[in-house]
Amino acid sequence: MTVKNIPMRRCVGCMESHPQKDMIRVAWDGERLAVDTTGRAKGRGVYFCRNSECIEKAKKSRGLNRSFKRGFSEEETDGIFRELLMLVKEV
Ligand SMILES: [Zn+2]
Repeated sequence: MTVKNIPMRRCVGCMESHPQKDMIRVAWDGERLAVDTTGRAKGRGVYFCRNSECIEKAKKSRGLNRSFKRGFSEEETDGIFRELLMLVKEV
């Protein structure tokens, strides 16, 4: 078995690192936040595990504001968290 260097990303919720391919990206392009389902949206990205626990945790700790170091409004981030929760519930 060859050991590959798989890209790891830290989850905003649990703060643990996991393979990037198992995670959901949220991008900030300087104007708006978006759940990046393609993984290719421009801008800075942060990552979440695909489980509601991590997403709820990140929501409670205002993790998006912390990760992007910005003062997003609650409405803005709530919309993103709602979208993320819908995504993980589909699986
Ligand atoms: Zn997590």
